[in-house]
Amino acid sequence: MTSVSSVARTGMSSGTVNCDAVVVGAGFGGLYALHRLRELGLSIVGIEAAPDVGGTWYWNRYPGVRCDVQSLLYSYSWSPELRREWRWSERYAAQAEILRYMDHAADRFRLRELIRFETRVVSAVYGEDDKLWTVRTDRGEAFRARFCIMATGCLSVPNTPSIPGLEDFRGAVYHTAKWPHEPVDFSGKRVGVIGTGSSGIQAIPVIAETAAHLSVFQRTANFSMPSRNRSLTEQDHVQFESGFAAYLESLQHTDFGRVPPTAATAPVPSREVQWQRYEELWQEGGGAILYAFPNILTHHGVNDVACDFVRQKIRETVQDPETAEDLCPTGHPIGVKRICVDSGYFQVFNRPNVALVNLRKEPIERFTSGGVQTSARHVDLDALVFATGFDAVTGALLAMDIRGRDGLELKEAWAAGPRTYLGLAVAGFPNLFTITGPGSPSVIGNVIANCEHHVDWLVECIDSMRRRSQQTVEPEEAAQGEWMEHVADVASRTLYPEANSWYLGVNIPGKPRVFMPYVGTGYRHTCSAIASEGYKGFLFDGAAKRS
Ligand code: NAP
Repeated sequence: MTSVSSVARTGMSSGTVNCDAVVVGAGFGGLYALHRLRELGLSIVGIEAAPDVGGTWYWNRYPGVRCDVQSLLYSYSWSPELRREWRWSERYAAQAEILRYMDHAADRFRLRELIRFETRVVSAVYGEDDKLWTVRTDRGEAFRARFCIMATGCLSVPNTPSIPGLEDFRGAVYHTAKWPHEPVDFSGKRVGVIGTGSSGIQAIPVIAETAAHLSVFQRTANFSMPSRNRSLTEQDHVQFESGFAAYLESLQHTDFGRVPPTAATAPVPSREVQWQRYEELWQEGGGAILYAFPNILTHHGVNDVACDFVRQKIRETVQDPETAEDLCPTGHPIGVKRICVDSGYFQVFNRPNVALVNLRKEPIERFTSGGVQTSARHVDLDALVFATGFDAVTGALLAMDIRGRDGLELKEAWAAGPRTYLGLAVAGFPNLFTITGPGSPSVIGNVIANCEHHVDWLVECIDSMRRRSQQTVEPEEAAQGEWMEHVADVASRTLYPEANSWYLGVNIPGKPRVFMPYVGTGYRHTCSAIASEGYKGFLFDGAAKRS
């Protein structure tokens, strides 16, 4: 493999840059991959569409944006120095602070020098003869690399629904995931927000503070828990540090965000016991209600009580009974759409300048030059905010023209839904790795911990190939098929498939309905066992049989 310095030697002048690995994306996963691969002595090129590091945190700058995982946990765990140097100011960090953290990590580990910014990958094509990937960008550059690491993120392609008449609307139009860098002033404006997922629920209370009037267009009412965000104290940091080793250990077999093995046999707690626990968690703040009982995401009886609890809180909070009823989620279990964590969301509907438009009662017919026409009325607006989410998990991968063996297109291979082995690799696409790919726990739980695990695993795999002088690795079709069956089987034994969520891809018209994240337990053990059994299910230096 080429040495790090040889990339610089090859330079850009020849038109094609040779390197050992291309890493696409400079979010949490991409930055860590660059760091680890460089440590391994590989020559690497990072490619990032944005002008700077940050991934989803670079683009999502909407008012109120902050993380719904506690900041002490939503951090890299691999660097003790970084941990010592960095002090999070709040329990749930705001986007600006997360971006400062990522900036700091990129500088601290000299990662920027490896990255081509403002450069978008348009294609990645595997060459059978030289067993190399050719990665082309929208700047006309080409990179030839043995390994291609896709760290393109699960929530990086914004979704703007196609509703007739948008081109007629004369006001300003925003999307939460493509927010301008300069401040947006809503004062004196009549604003409409479409969408009440995590982004909308965070943005709405903040927009309401300045807008003359805010109309919230809600298609599906959502469960949300109060964050009870607060400043972190020295005591919080000391406590976290003292428990850090145990936290790292727990990551090896954590059930965080997943369905634990005890779910099937766990007793059904009484309504009283549940209610008391939910009240404690409501007061504590955050999304921990999903871990209150092992069977909350598998047992309707248990889940129903949690739903009732949150609905009661909504009714207690929202003064107007009709608005309160409209805000009560009814069509899906709690937690099977990603639970929201808010700061004053339900309270905002008590403000005189905020109105809920229930699209189940009056769907949007079209946009007009002056606002939104629903089936019941015209809502006058000066500005419109789409908080309508993402083409999640596969969107960024399928936006590129990726071709593996025999010109096989990823789009074709995934026509009926994404297929991977462990969410890390795809049959027919040698030496292509996906960080937080479909079929991995990805967005379930703490995505940074998942990114770190995926990177560590693939770096170890590449290192072992190097020691064995192997050139290619790819999953066997049979192993991939078994894994995907397992992913689907685990999901089918939970309540997850009961909501039309982005986990299933149903928010994007035409996207196959496939539950994408792995929600089982023991994922890390499985990955380690596969590696220690000689990468069982992977094929080295040979073309896998394709069905
Ligand atoms: P989302 O959860 O997919 O929510 C999109 C919202 O837009 C939903 O309310 C959806 O309604 C609505 N919508 C979509 N198309 C519509 C249409 N044609 N007409 C009316 N309404 C429409 O997207 P998101 O809020 O951006 O969140 C996505 C994920 O990003 C989250 O689940 C979370 O994982 C992550 N995120 C995290 C944070 C955080 O850490 N705090 C913040 C923001 C986002 P339906 O439900 O009816 O489809």
